[in-house]
Amino acid sequence: MKLLKGQPVSEKIQADIKAEIASWPQKGLALPHLSVILVGKDPASEVYVGHKARMCEALGFSSEVIRLDEKISQNELLAKIDDLNKNSKVDGILVQLPLPKHIHERTALEKIAPGKDVDCLTKTNIGSMVVGDAIVKPCTPAGIVEILKYYDIKIAGKKVAVIGRSQIVGTPLVHLLTQENATVTLFHSKSENLMQEIKTFDIVCVAIGKSEYFKQADFKQGAIVIDVGIHRAEGHKLTGDVVKAVENDTWLSAQSPVPGGVGVTTIAMLMQNTLQACKARRQS
Ligand code: NAP
Repeated sequence: MKLLKGQPVSEKIQADIKAEIASWPQKGLALPHLSVILVGKDPASEVYVGHKARMCEALGFSSEVIRLDEKISQNELLAKIDDLNKNSKVDGILVQLPLPKHIHERTALEKIAPGKDVDCLTKTNIGSMVVGDAIVKPCTPAGIVEILKYYDIKIAGKKVAVIGRSQIVGTPLVHLLTQENATVTLFHSKSENLMQEIKTFDIVCVAIGKSEYFKQADFKQGAIVIDVGIHRAEGHKLTGDVVKAVENDTWLSAQSPVPGGVGVTTIAMLMQNTLQACKARRQS
């Protein structure tokens, strides 16, 4: 079985970004700037925000993490987002999820100016993605498509299952894969006969948020499995939604590992989106 590692995919995306911005300093153009808002002290969010800041630094982007108290009111958060919307130095705004329960997530996300919504979570940007003319694409689903392309996995014409219909992964992934000419079926917790059904798919993308729920033999022999899940168990061991991929497994033809698979490309796609948002804003 081939391990679909995210690192080489991420390195390629980063190399393309670096090549594109290499001449900007000589031209007197500021490199892209990403502002990340982190409300509260969720440990997993701290880790993700740290990864994002480090990749910005590696690319020469400027970035800032705006840490806000867990008890901040919704109006104060909206005002902070609005300040960033108006700040001409800011190209991308990311509100790290989850937000504390007293803040209405959709209201906060909709406050982000679509031109700076580098996570592609505003209704405007989701709509653009669905009609196929998006400047930015949802990071995790777009990263999955990049992984499949990088490893020369044919998507067009293939039967692809997406398991999980969240707004950040499963639902947008259906659109991006359909735009790549896959025949896509979306499964969720109410789907009947899921375990029988998934045995008929060439490619299966799993994003259900349940640690090691599926094992390799649950899929069709020779299938390609993309594992989106990330679970931090006691002792900091990370697991996916599928039992860990091992290279000498002979049942599947390929599987993305956790850690080191989809998560790595997600952050690279965020950088790509920040660059695209920056260019689009300067052209407007
Ligand atoms: P989510 O919002 O919790 O949604 C889970 C989805 O899975 C729901 O649609 C749910 O169905 C479905 N589901 C749950 N149990 C199921 C089952 N037994 N059979 C079929 N469908 C089932 O999840 P998410 O935000 O998409 O995240 C999924 C996983 O991916 C999590 O582990 C998360 O940490 C990880 N993740 C990773 C990245 C990355 O960059 N690698 C990014 C985002 C998320 P219903 O809609 O019917 O409830």
